[in-house]
This record gives sequence, C-alpha cells and structure tokens, in this order.
Amino acid sequence: MNRPQPPLVTPGTFSTAEQPGRPPSDAIVLFDGTPATLDKWEADKNVPEPTKWVVKDGTLQCVPGSGYIRTKEQFGDCQLHVEWAAPSKVEGNSQGRGNSGIFLMGQTEVQVLDNFNNPTYADGFAGSVYGVNPPYANALHAPGEWQVYDIIFRRPIFKDGKMLDSGHFTVLMNGVVVQEATPLEGGGGHMGRSSDHPLLDKGPLKLQDHGNPVRYRNIWYRPLPARAVDGGDMGVVPTEAATAKKLEIAKNIRNDAAKLEGRAKLLRQMESLCYEVDAATRKEAEAGIAAWVSAMQQVPAAEMPGKKREVLQMRGAVDYLIRFKFLPEGLAAQAAIDKMVKDNGWKK
Ligand code: MG
Repeated sequence: MNRPQPPLVTPGTFSTAEQPGRPPSDAIVLFDGTPATLDKWEADKNVPEPTKWVVKDGTLQCVPGSGYIRTKEQFGDCQLHVEWAAPSKVEGNSQGRGNSGIFLMGQTEVQVLDNFNNPTYADGFAGSVYGVNPPYANALHAPGEWQVYDIIFRRPIFKDGKMLDSGHFTVLMNGVVVQEATPLEGGGGHMGRSSDHPLLDKGPLKLQDHGNPVRYRNIWYRPLPARAVDGGDMGVVPTEAATAKKLEIAKNIRNDAAKLEGRAKLLRQMESLCYEVDAATRKEAEAGIAAWVSAMQQVPAAEMPGKKREVLQMRGAVDYLIRFKFLPEGLAAQAAIDKMVKDNGWKK
C-alpha cells in the first residue's frame, strides 16, 4: 500500500452503429468527426500540403487517387483506436475491395480490407500485419458497417546495433484478438519478408489510399509507458521517481518511529530498512533487537506461552530483513530467537 497508485483514467464509452464512442480521458484525439480535427492531418508528400481527403457526415473519407494521409503529430509506442467502414456498394475483389491501411509510425501496416465474403492471400487479410502475419480470425462486419480496431503497438528497440526488442503488434478486430504480440520482423511489405532493423523512435500515423473510398471515424491513441529495455519500468512511474518515493516512505516511517517507544518503535525502524538502509537506523535496530532478546530471555518459562505471538512476529521480521540483506547475516539475535522458538516447542 506504500507504493504509488496507478494514474486515474476515466474510461470512454463503446461505439454503436450510429454513434462513435467517447475516448478515455487521457486519449489524444486524432479525428473526432469534426472538420477541425482534419487539421491534425496532411497529405503524405515530401513537401507537406493539406490532404484532399474529406470530412463527410462526421467521417474522414479517402478520396481515391489523392494519396496517403499522415498525422502532423509523431508518436511511437501506443494504444491506438481506429474505426473504419468499407463502401457499402461492393466493387472489386481480393485486394481491390475496400482496401486501405493503418501504418504505425508510417512504416508497418495493419491491413484495412473488406474481406466479408472476399478471400485474399492470408498475410494481406484485414487485421494482418501486412506481409508479416495473417490474423487469427476474420471477424469483420458486412461492408458499410463500422469496424473497430484496437491496436497495441511497441516499436523495435536497438542499442549499439543489437536488437533488445523486436517490437510487436496486438490487434483486436471488433473485440476479437487477431494479432497477439506479433513481432515486427522489420515491418513487412508487399511480396517480400523484411528483416529486423532499427526504426526511428516515433513517426506519423498514416492512412492508406489504395483506390477505395474507405471511411474512418473516432481515431485516438494513448502513449504507453517505456519498457525496461528502453529505460522504463513498465509501471506507473519511472525508476527515478520510484527511488525518490522509497526514500520519502523510509523517512516518513522513521519520523513515525521517533514518536514511538519500545517494540512498536523497533518494528517501525525495521520496516523503514525495507525502503532505505539508513546506517544509523540499522545500528539502532540491531541494538533494539538485541535488547528485546535480552528482555525476552528474562521472562519466566511459565509466562512464555503468552509471548508466542510476539516472538514469532519478531522472528519473521528479523528473518525477512536478513534474507533480503537489509540486516547482516549471522546476527546473534537470530540464533537466540530460533532457540527460544525451539525451546518452547512452537515450531521445529
Ligand atoms: Mg492496405
């Protein structure tokens, strides 16, 4: 309970056929149906220019022939939510029907394709990491209906030319897992396997123009905490903050101990050592344990059964601190407590 609490996030709501859901409170919204959020996008050209894709009825629609679009913002590891709909008027087949794509960091495509009663090659299916891995399942709604992708993306991490993490994709299609920690293997591509190689730390999100007027709505992401191999602790606070928190906790416990007397004080001092091995406190604790042992050894044998709980508690605490090296091994007090326990037949 002393450890930091996870940050609060107010959850969003699920989308319905008619209405996109509300993103969680800490999401960064990339498209919410308003023309204003179109300003977050541009044409994917060397010289940036406004996109020709259009906002229509609260959706972002691909204009065939106008080219890919990309976010002005760049990001890496994320939880990404995207909803898309293929044209309800069915035209073409295989890769030619309702084709678009979601390119994480502008590099690796999670395929958008109308595969509803429309076979194609496996690693080009909707929900595939294109050219890398087919989806586990085809869980698409009919064309014209909204499809929901939830993507958890981790970029590759290289240090000094060595791959520490290949990066990976987890993808849910309409709530069904279709990719599960799929390694990137360099990023994929058409008709050729790529191999692992470093990518930049971040890049724009791109949406593909593959010649079909696919529509999008409700696009948002949440950045993910850094991984351990990337200097993070995968937790709610970075390592430096965790260390600072430990020191703060140790200090608070020592302040509390200063107001106490006897065994209560000793136990609090011992507890503080779990957060910081402060030399003065450790010395006091060792002396306190030794004094407690001496006092306990003066207790008449007939009164010892009433001390069972106290002795076992002290033994547990001393053993713990020694096991995790907060106290030195070979403490005379530890042997003395063990003897007390044995002599009284509490445990072997
Ligand atoms: Mg595509």
